Amino acid sequence: RMEEFYCQGCGAKIQHEDETKAGYAPESALQREEVICKRCFRLKHYNEVQDVDMTADDFLNMLHEIGSKQALIVKVVDLFDVHGSFIQGLNRFAGSNPVIIVGNKVDLLPSSVNLNKVKNWMRRVAKDFGLKVKDIFLVSAVKGTGMKETAFEIERLRQGQDVYVVGSTNVGKSTLINYFIQNSTEEKDVITTSYFPGTTLGFIDIPLDDRSSMIDTPGIINHHQMAHYLSKKDLKSITPKKEVKPKVFQLEEGQTLFIGGLARFDVEASNEKVGYVCYFSNELNIHRTKQEKADELYENHLGDLLAPPSKDTLATWPEMEKETFRIKGGKTDVVFSGLGWITVPEGEITINAYVPKGVRVILREAII
Ligand code: GDP
Repeated sequence: RMEEFYCQGCGAKIQHEDETKAGYAPESALQREEVICKRCFRLKHYNEVQDVDMTADDFLNMLHEIGSKQALIVKVVDLFDVHGSFIQGLNRFAGSNPVIIVGNKVDLLPSSVNLNKVKNWMRRVAKDFGLKVKDIFLVSAVKGTGMKETAFEIERLRQGQDVYVVGSTNVGKSTLINYFIQNSTEEKDVITTSYFPGTTLGFIDIPLDDRSSMIDTPGIINHHQMAHYLSKKDLKSITPKKEVKPKVFQLEEGQTLFIGGLARFDVEASNEKVGYVCYFSNELNIHRTKQEKADELYENHLGDLLAPPSKDTLATWPEMEKETFRIKGGKTDVVFSGLGWITVPEGEITINAYVPKGVRVILREAII
């Protein structure tokens, strides 16, 4: 039997197989006097955190772990994928611990967005997930927008206690924590990792003062995210890199839009030809066709005309599922989780939305 090692920084079991999981270290790390994983090594020597993934099982263990602590919980979500990046089950352990939501990547939203509407919508989403939140902040961890205010509120709300930062993978949790590390400590040397007795999940500890810490938890893999069905390259093309530019399509009943081959939108019933505004990564191709031709087009041209997904990922590409919405009243956004949204104008309109099985489509009051 091989000897087992645990990281002296985060407590994760040392492994050499998977760099994306907690406890990864090259074999040479075992030669060192103090065995630490690559993630803790980077924090210690470069003052920088990196994300690792955790499975659903680990997640349940994490809930247990945090549930027994008194702390402020900072939940990071991706504003372009609020449903996909919302962690289910958080409400169960939060208990009396205060929770705040940090909606990251605000720099990607068009500048005409009404941020109050975004916050209100997120409040409703949180409520639907059964989560009580103290406050919601919209930030860009990359650009620094809203970060000072958020840091200030975190400091105020934590009341001297620890801060757990949680989120699913890719929401920008590491970027956010790195911002705090770079901007909060004058003496960079104070950052050390310290072993958590009894924790083997790979939490890492960034001291805030003598008695409390900010704790970086592994990112949760959420299988409702579109990202999990795509290759790295495809993921790049769907993830907006800068402010999304709206594209308007005049559509009447019986017309269809394909968002690459990732989603489909039919105007099933409408009395007039009106403008539909699409908000997706500027690099994504939107293809207009007739609804009666749409099935055939999808069958014959998924992976070329309708791409991404690219050809080499079609084998594992899930089936599309259709959902019909009767929309009445004010302007409404049809949100394709992880991808973007289409604003449907005021009036009585029935639409069909198609997404890969498992990915969510949600309606919200238009945010623009
Ligand atoms: P983690 O997996 O949650 O730790 O996420 P990372 O911090 O590694 O970030 C995931 C991706 O999102 C990276 O490509 C980041 O550059 C990007 N990202 C993070 N924060 C922001 C942000 O505020 N705006 C934009 N546009 N991208 C961001």
